[in-house]
Amino acid sequence: MLNFSFANPTKIHFGEQQIALIKNEIPADAKVLVTYGGGSIKSNGIYDQVSAALSEHTWFEFAGIEPNPSYQTCMKAVALVKEKQVDYILAVGGGSVIDGSKFIAAAANYDGEPWDILAKGGEVKSAIALGVVLTLPATGSESNSFSVVSNLDSHDKLPFASPLVQPQFAVLDPAVTYSLPKRQVANGIVDAFVHTMEQYLTYDVGAKLQDRFAEGILMTLIEEGPKAFSEPDNYQVRANIMWSATMALNGLIGAGVPQDWSTHMLGHEMTAVYGLDHAQTLAIVLPRMMAEQTDTKRGKILQYAERVLGLDTSDEDAAIEQAINATEAFFHSVNMPTRLSDYNLGEEVANKIVEQLERHGMTALGERQQVTLDKSRAILLASV
Ligand code: NAP
Ligand code: FE
Repeated sequence: MLNFSFANPTKIHFGEQQIALIKNEIPADAKVLVTYGGGSIKSNGIYDQVSAALSEHTWFEFAGIEPNPSYQTCMKAVALVKEKQVDYILAVGGGSVIDGSKFIAAAANYDGEPWDILAKGGEVKSAIALGVVLTLPATGSESNSFSVVSNLDSHDKLPFASPLVQPQFAVLDPAVTYSLPKRQVANGIVDAFVHTMEQYLTYDVGAKLQDRFAEGILMTLIEEGPKAFSEPDNYQVRANIMWSATMALNGLIGAGVPQDWSTHMLGHEMTAVYGLDHAQTLAIVLPRMMAEQTDTKRGKILQYAERVLGLDTSDEDAAIEQAINATEAFFHSVNMPTRLSDYNLGEEVANKIVEQLERHGMTALGERQQVTLDKSRAILLASV
């Protein structure tokens, strides 16, 4: 096992009717900015629950944080934070609203040009306190310190991380996910699955517990994912998916193990250039990433085949091929396409994305820096 330091300071309130608890989590004298997206929270009753919980607080609102939150929109919220002297941000939404709010929280206190936080690794020395009401189980952003923000002008989609933007608390009510469109349900399941794979499917360092945590999340998503479509009103299914997505990226399964993240880095570029949903890009890249790295990931792919998928691994090469096919079949089982051609895209994607990767210095990705630009190109060409 590798050395690690682990703390997850986000307090989770999980279950039905838990939104009411935010009343006690935010200091009574705080000036609160409630941030949200395109308005789904107004039609599904979440906005009303939040308003009721904040009835004794002073609060303002900022709507319109879009999927793949943009720097341009976030900076409008920063201006409001400064104007109203906000000292607490409550993000109500999915990963985009949460990520955007993390950037707003950091940018509002940043001395200099806030874009540098993303583009130049500018150090976040202070940030406004943040709490979350999660509406879409997917990213894990509700209890981690990561954020990804896009610049609409330059087609950059860049991450930053700071413990100062980690939410202080997060409310996870599985019942709020009933109103999700099917496409977003699929997106969430696939994103959580790929987060787990990026921390599991590397090489063995003898971290048995982390492996078994990861395998538990993968098995739960494979078992429950399709049921979110066949039994959309099943609370336990929604609850299992929601908790799996949080546990997939809250630091626990990634502590003391190598991490990959190459699928995400290719995916971010694909979203920035072609506008595909985050998880749509991951479902295209991951199967081909596995196929391209059967040499370096061999042991772990076989472990995944045997323990997660229940495959006979006596013929190793056959088992590896079956495991990759089964991964793609799982994505199809939650109605997620896995090919560029499903989006009318073709071979032109390869050179364009490689150009973007080069521009962002992502020339050697993965747990062994083995994903060179040539490998990325091969993966994308194989994804048509
Ligand atoms: P999202 O972009 O936050 O939301 C997608 C859509 O779902 C929005 O149109 C939203 O509508 C709608 N929606 C959300 N909750 C809903 C509900 N309960 N009922 C009905 N509609 C609802 O999706 P996401 O997958 O959670 O976030 C994706 C972003 O997170 C990407 O930018 C990705 O790169 C990033 N990400 C971050 C991390 C991290 O660790 N921070 C990890 C992976 C990915 P409204 O706008 O109307 O609410
Ligand atoms: Fe993701």
